[in-house]
Order: sequence, then structure tokens, then C-alpha cells
Amino acid sequence: MTYIVNDKCISCKYTDCVEVCPVDCFYEGENMLVIHPDECIDCGVCEPECPPEAILPDTEAGAGEWVNFNLEKSLIWPNITERRDPLPGAEDNLDKTNKFQNLFIDKPAPQN
Ligand code: SF4
Ligand code: SF4
Repeated sequence: MTYIVNDKCISCKYTDCVEVCPVDCFYEGENMLVIHPDECIDCGVCEPECPPEAILPDTEAGAGEWVNFNLEKSLIWPNITERRDPLPGAEDNLDKTNKFQNLFIDKPAPQN
């Protein structure tokens, strides 16, 4: 079992989840985060911290299909261990639908 991030995170990227993860297993794309499924210890503390409810256990309906995506991106995106400010417009994008089709940017987060 692992926890995953789904497309509700896209273009919001509040990073409340990152602060609480005891094993630093979040990875950062340009406009969303993912969880490394093999590093996640299934503690679940990040789930209630996520404002758009993008974090789910892979046992939840519809969550299993996100495991491979989280694994694939966590292998090529940089690790994120500290909270950042949310992306501009995060509040407006919170409830948007079809985020993956309409908003996802398939790039690693820019590094300083
Ligand atoms: S708290 Fe949720 S929406 Fe925010 S960065 Fe973490 S997973 Fe994404
Ligand atoms: S469930 Fe625990 S270990 Fe897994 S990503 Fe969330 S905080 Fe980190």
C-alpha cells in the first residue's frame, strides 16, 4: 500500500503535505507534487493536510490508477522537503475539473 497524489493537486500546489511527511517522499513537478510509492510508509498524516483532498491511499476507489504516475514522476522530479507558497491562482483552481487534461504541465519544478 501507498498514498498517492491525484490531479486535484494540479495548479494548486499548497505544500502543507510536505511539512508533515516523516520520510520526505514528495517530489515536485512544475505545477503538482507526487509521492514516491516505495518510500511512502503509509502513515497517512499528509492526507488531512491537503486542502483539495488530492492525497488518497491507493486502496481508495480510483486511486490505484495513480500509483504508476506517482512512481514515474517521482523518479525524475526533484525531492521537495520544505513548504512553499501556493501557486498564483491556487484558490481559483481548487475546484476545477479535468485538471489533468487542461492544466497539467509535464515538467519538473524549476530549480533555484
Ligand atoms: S497539500 Fe495537496 S494540493 Fe497541496 S501540494 Fe500537497 S498534495 Fe498537492
Ligand atoms: S502517507 Fe506518510 S509517508 Fe506517505 S507521503 Fe504521506 S506523510 Fe509521507
